[in-house]
Amino acid sequence: MEITRRDFIRSTFLLGGSLFVSPALLCTEQERGGEWHPAYEKLEREGKFAERIEQAYAIFENCELCPRQCGVNRQKGERGVCRAPAKPVIFSAQPHFGEEMSLVGNNGSGTIFFSNCNLRCIFCQNWPIAHEGRGKTVQDEDLADMMIYLQRIGCHNINLVTPTHVMPNILNATRIALKKGLRLPLVYNTSGYERLEIVRLLDGIVDIYMPDIKYMDAHHAARYSAGASDYPKATKKAIIEMNRQVGELLTDKRGIALRGLIIRHLVMPNRVAGTEKFVRWVAETLPKSTYVNIMSQYRVEYKAFEYPEISRGITVQEFLEAMEWAEEYGLTNLDPKSLVVRDLYYKRRSG
Ligand code: SF4
Repeated sequence: MEITRRDFIRSTFLLGGSLFVSPALLCTEQERGGEWHPAYEKLEREGKFAERIEQAYAIFENCELCPRQCGVNRQKGERGVCRAPAKPVIFSAQPHFGEEMSLVGNNGSGTIFFSNCNLRCIFCQNWPIAHEGRGKTVQDEDLADMMIYLQRIGCHNINLVTPTHVMPNILNATRIALKKGLRLPLVYNTSGYERLEIVRLLDGIVDIYMPDIKYMDAHHAARYSAGASDYPKATKKAIIEMNRQVGELLTDKRGIALRGLIIRHLVMPNRVAGTEKFVRWVAETLPKSTYVNIMSQYRVEYKAFEYPEISRGITVQEFLEAMEWAEEYGLTNLDPKSLVVRDLYYKRRSG
C-alpha cells in the first residue's frame, strides 16, 4: 500500500503521542527556566537567521557539509559518501526516554532520527537507518511541523540524531517552526565527524551539542568508519568550537538541560576506542567539569562480527577501567547513569 508523506508524519506523531502525551505533565514557562529563550530566537531577532540558512543551503551545490568533502551537487540529485539526498529522510520523530536524564526529564527528549550517515561505522547500532537509509523523504515544512508537535506534547528539546548531512534543512525547518511558536533548545546529536567551518555556521542556533568521540586513533577510525582517518583530528577541533559556543551544561530548576556540551564516549572491546587518551584529552583541553557520558552499551551489530577484536561486548573490567581513568584525570561531571552502573559493578565484584 502506498504511504503518503502526510500519512507518514501522522503515524509518526501518533506513535509518540498515543504513548506519552500527558497534559498534566506539561510544565509552565516559569518551571522551564523563566526568561530562557533558545539561541535561534535571538538570531532571528537580529535579522541574521535567514542569511545563515542561505549560506547553509549553498553548500549543498558542492557538498562539503562534513570532513568527507565529497563535492557533489546534492541539489541535482548527486550523492556522496553519506548516500543522502538533498531532502531530509526521517525514520521517526517521537519522545525518547533512553537519553541522558537531563534531556529526558518527565516528558522525554523530542527525538528526530535522520536516515543516512556520513561516518558509516561497521558496528553501527542503527544500521537499517544509517546505512540502508530506511525512512520517508519529507519537506522542510514537514520537519518543522514535527518539531512543533514534539513541543506540543511536552518534550523538553528537539533532539536531532545524525544531523550533519541535513544541517541546511534543519536550519530552515527550525526557522519555519520558530514562526509557529517553537521555543525548545536544539540538541545537535552527532557522531562528532564535523567540519570546524560548519560548526561555526551553527553558532547562535544550536543550544546543546551532543557529539560522540568514538576513537582517538586514526588507524581505528579508518578501519571501522569507512576510511575516516581524520576523525580524531576533525572531531577534537569541532568539539573545542562547540565548547566555545555553548560551554558547560546549564539546566533549569528541574534539572532539564537548556544549553551546553555533552560528550559521549562508547567504551569498545580491547581498548579500541582509546578511552584513556580520550579522558586525558578532555581533562587537558576542556574544563574538567565538562559533562562526559562514558557508555557501556556496546553491542556487536551490523558487520562488527567480521572484526574479531570487536566481535564481543565489553567486559566489566573494561568499563571500570574507563571510569577509573576518568576519575584519575579529574573529570568531575560524569553522567549519573554511568556512575550508577559503575557502583553496581563494584558492588557485584566485592560481593
Ligand atoms: S554530507 Fe554527505 S555528501 Fe556532503 S560531504 Fe558529507 S558525506 Fe559527502
